[in-house]
Amino acid sequence: MALFAQSRLLDWFYPPFCNLCRIPLRRGQNLCSSCLANLPPLPSHACLTCGNSFDGILKAPQSCPNCLKLKPAFQFATAALQANDDTIDLIHKFKLIGQPELGIDLAQIGANFFRTDERLSKLEKPLLIPVPLHKSRLRKRGFNQAEILAQELSRQLEVDSLKALKRVRSTPRQATLTRGQRLKNVKGSFLLTTKPSKLINRNLILIDDVFTTGATAHECARILRKSKPAQIAVFTILRA
Ligand SMILES: [Zn+2]
Ligand SMILES: [Zn+2]
Repeated sequence: MALFAQSRLLDWFYPPFCNLCRIPLRRGQNLCSSCLANLPPLPSHACLTCGNSFDGILKAPQSCPNCLKLKPAFQFATAALQANDDTIDLIHKFKLIGQPELGIDLAQIGANFFRTDERLSKLEKPLLIPVPLHKSRLRKRGFNQAEILAQELSRQLEVDSLKALKRVRSTPRQATLTRGQRLKNVKGSFLLTTKPSKLINRNLILIDDVFTTGATAHECARILRKSKPAQIAVFTILRA
């Protein structure tokens, strides 16, 4: 709520421009309708478990070789958008340049996707859980992008959200690591900070900005799974 009010207040001082094409916008907007319409959804031929796109056409829905081998601790991961120059630019502006108000637009894109996605929309009484940041990174960035997204999604979809995890170990940047290295890198980085009774039999949805290899999501889900939830899904704005 505070973020929402703050961004509306800023609009009075700095009339908004589209974050992608720079055309002037009405107050309260960060993206124009034509840029919004051109953001790419995930391809329909993607891994059932991690959302990774397959080359060519599949005869039937299936999981990719990575997921068959690694068996992620979550049931499925999906994303509202596919990575391209525009969507990466938006995420970059949102979290690295520090435009938290863009989180409202990204969450709106996410909420629209959520309502129409067959698997997400069917989860009964879902509980959104943001992927936590380590306190040292939180201090540097000033906000946790996953928390903003979870709060906004919770507001727009009228579902519960809970900060159930804590990041106890700061992990080096993962961008250049392989999937196996990332899995090792994040192991033991998260702790449960809520009573397991709050998670038991619930449909949990881990929320983050970007899904890359799924190592972070797998490790978070591994910790959450100990509380015996009904299901664990992963929902991100972007699938890298
Ligand atoms: Zn635009
Ligand atoms: Zn997969």
